[in-house]
Amino acid sequence: MRRRILIFSCLMAGASIVLTAVLIYMAVYRNFAGLLRREIATESDLIAAAVELSGHDYLKSLEANPPAVRITLIDAEGTVLFDSGWDPSGMENHLDRPEVRSALETGVGEDARFSRTISRQTFYRAQRLGDGRVLRVAVTTDSIFASLLGLALLTALIASGVFVSAAVIGTGVTRRIVEPINRINLDRPEESPAYDEIAPLLSRMKKQNEIISAQIDEIRQRQIEFRAITDNMREGLLLLDCDARVLSCNKNALRLLQSNADDPVGKNALALNRSETFSRAVERALAGIPSEELTTPGERYLQIFANPVRDVDVVCGAVLVLLDVTEREDRERLRREFTANVSHELKTPLTAISGYAEIIANEVARHEDIPRFAGCIYAEAQRLITLVGDIMTLSRLDEGGVRTPREPVDLGHLVECAIQRTRAAAAKRGIEVAFSGGSAEINGIIRVIEEAVANVLDNAVKYNVDGGSVSIALAEKNGEITLEITDTGVGIPASEQGRIFERFYRADRSRGGAEGGTGLGLSIAKHAMKLHGGRIEVKSDGKHGSTVTLTFPAA
Ligand code: ADP
Repeated sequence: MRRRILIFSCLMAGASIVLTAVLIYMAVYRNFAGLLRREIATESDLIAAAVELSGHDYLKSLEANPPAVRITLIDAEGTVLFDSGWDPSGMENHLDRPEVRSALETGVGEDARFSRTISRQTFYRAQRLGDGRVLRVAVTTDSIFASLLGLALLTALIASGVFVSAAVIGTGVTRRIVEPINRINLDRPEESPAYDEIAPLLSRMKKQNEIISAQIDEIRQRQIEFRAITDNMREGLLLLDCDARVLSCNKNALRLLQSNADDPVGKNALALNRSETFSRAVERALAGIPSEELTTPGERYLQIFANPVRDVDVVCGAVLVLLDVTEREDRERLRREFTANVSHELKTPLTAISGYAEIIANEVARHEDIPRFAGCIYAEAQRLITLVGDIMTLSRLDEGGVRTPREPVDLGHLVECAIQRTRAAAAKRGIEVAFSGGSAEINGIIRVIEEAVANVLDNAVKYNVDGGSVSIALAEKNGEITLEITDTGVGIPASEQGRIFERFYRADRSRGGAEGGTGLGLSIAKHAMKLHGGRIEVKSDGKHGSTVTLTFPAA
């Protein structure tokens, strides 16, 4: 900029000098031409008077002492009679000269002619003498252009001098103008030393700075809020531009897509997950088609909602919401399995009942077999009642358990009641049930806890060996209450310990376990514990009994 100002001021100075010189010279020249004309007129009047008085002798005397002007004498026919500069005999007829013609007609004639050959200007003045001849006086001078050319060197010298001075002055002035501007501290313009003329600019800059920093603060705050929201949402959120580059991506999106990209912003989204489903969702969204896809990266189910983002009618990006729907899918799978299992479990006793009833109804059975068949029908009906009871308990826990009000429950007392109820079955097989005593209180739904404890205790008797034992211990430590039920039964192999809490799962019956279970007892117990914020665990070496532990948070 500094160079431009300098060049501009030098050019301006040079141009003004040249222009001024030309204009002044033109004015002077014009003045000079007028003066010359007047001088020629005076001189021509004097010479005419002299010629009128002395006739041709005066002109002859001029030959010896030639004047500064050219004098020509022409007769009325245009023939040159005398010329102070040339031989009149070789000169052409002058009647066509404007000044001569005008002098013959009006008495006086003037003209100025330019000679390209010598680049000079000649002023003519002709006047008619008393005898009809014409006396012409001519003065030749440089043309205006020739004069200007003569001045060109001088003008160029002056212009160069002015150029140099303008350059020196321009440099100094430019520095004085530009340097304070260069020294302005853009962050704190008001503190910069500057001249008065830029003070308004500085105060404007200060205001602009304040506005910009307020806006930046606001944008930053918004960004923090946006990040806080997106990072804390369970869903994954991915914003893409029209070239599928990531504009924004929260932590959960990376986790759900199983990507370990450090900084995905600016990268192609397809690099985050190579699955065909994900690519299809991105491509469709960027083509303006909303889509919903279900994919399974790893062991989890991932639902992708991909929608185009439009600016008026043009798709300028896409927004993808990713949901971990593993639990929903698992629940759905469990529900399907549960329905299938329930149907199967209900069908087995019903088929048996129907079979026995048919034999009796058709009077195919022998009379003495009828009590046995009736016993079987009773047993299967009991099994059905237990099964339906368990299913109802489970569905009660599924649906209403959370809303049931809690009350203080004395676990010690509850265990003693459960032992009372199972004592008959235990005694029948010579199994001893021992409770080391103690009491602990929790907040819970008494009926649900009773059910859990009863199921575990029933199993400890049911899967025990004849003459075995069951020992129950209640303890409170580290803010937790534990109820351990240990039996001396067949044990649970490690391979089955993870599965026995599944609905309808029953361990291998060939291992000698009791018949007649529904496979729902432990899943009811697990559900009940979950409802109370507790847990149920099993320990067994798979041969010598097992220990089932119910852990409750202390009240
Ligand atoms: P079930 O009605 O068959 O008893 P549960 O859900 O109560 O159903 O138990 C599931 C399976 O776990 C049982 O079929 C049994 O094989 C095994 N099991 C549960 N408790 C014990 C235990 N104390 N000792 C050995 N096996 C057990």
